[in-house]
Amino acid sequence: MASRHNPILPFLIAISIGLLFTSTPASAQMERKVTKLADGIYEIEHQDALDGFASGNSTVIIGERQVFVVDSCFLPSAAREDIAQIRQWTDKPVSFLLNTHFHNDHNLGNRAYMDAFPALTIIAHVETKKDMDMFGPGSESREEKSMVFLQQMMDTGKTKDGRALTADEKTEVKNALAHRLPVIEELKKVKFQSATLTFEHDFLVDIGNREVQIKFLGRGNTAGDAVVYLPKEKIAIVGDLVVYPIPYIYDGYPTEWIQTMQNLSQLDSATIVPGHGPILHDKTYVFLIRDLLKSAVDQMNAKLTQSGPAMFRSLDEVKGSVDLSPFRERFAGTDKDTAAAFDDMASNLVKVVFEEASLR
Ligand SMILES: [Zn+2]
Repeated sequence: MASRHNPILPFLIAISIGLLFTSTPASAQMERKVTKLADGIYEIEHQDALDGFASGNSTVIIGERQVFVVDSCFLPSAAREDIAQIRQWTDKPVSFLLNTHFHNDHNLGNRAYMDAFPALTIIAHVETKKDMDMFGPGSESREEKSMVFLQQMMDTGKTKDGRALTADEKTEVKNALAHRLPVIEELKKVKFQSATLTFEHDFLVDIGNREVQIKFLGRGNTAGDAVVYLPKEKIAIVGDLVVYPIPYIYDGYPTEWIQTMQNLSQLDSATIVPGHGPILHDKTYVFLIRDLLKSAVDQMNAKLTQSGPAMFRSLDEVKGSVDLSPFRERFAGTDKDTAAAFDDMASNLVKVVFEEASLR
């Protein structure tokens, strides 16, 4: 699941190549799906293509005067499909588009919205805009590099660490390459559109008898994760702070993320829209992610207290002291592929927690 989730980090696919060979987790989104959350509020789950690329969820909030969209998804062609759908729902313009964070599976569609609605304001946290400006324009060349890596595997018949591919794995690499080609072609044509309005703390927009609150609850998945909260409807749209069924923890700020999840849990919400995956109707999963992060951080700190600071240790020396396996079934149930995705995420979480400790 995780390597499917961040097209800005294609090398993760190289590192955790095992994931490419697990079949799709049970909950991966194979078709575009639209859910009505309330009158004039819709959530769109985009299709996760067969190429390893994932696309973040989008949420459409229609007011009496204006439309507010949360996240513009990955491919501009998918964003244009969403725009056509919005025009069927309303003749009001999309005036505001918010990017929850800088990962490009949530904002490469920005330009499509800007082209369709030239008066559009694109909102992001100030740290998110900085990261978007840094990573956004290079998306296509990074994806092309991941193609080179897959092509090398295809040509040599081996993984990067020299293990021979099985026949099934060869087929998967071949399919991934074939499915990626048209995506790369589309990415070549993308003109990156960054945010046009930044914020640091909370603010609200009234789009006509509908209040949209934008909040920064602390760092977590990135340095600038924004949450959109609709107080009347008790809906929270939370970006990749929450990814279901396996959280996306391949970088970010695990220690602060614990508190951010605690802050998130305090919002009076009956509906939570995650960055990827289906809508959640209670906070159980929010608490589960908080507890996983806390367990990883606490176990790492306990080990380092006993062994000495991280700056004098290597990851290999300490990683065996952090055991996250008690969480596997709570996240993955009995599904084998989802369990493999959990294990991949968990070993990366330990690495990120160690790197964070090394900075102290
Ligand atoms: Zn994402």
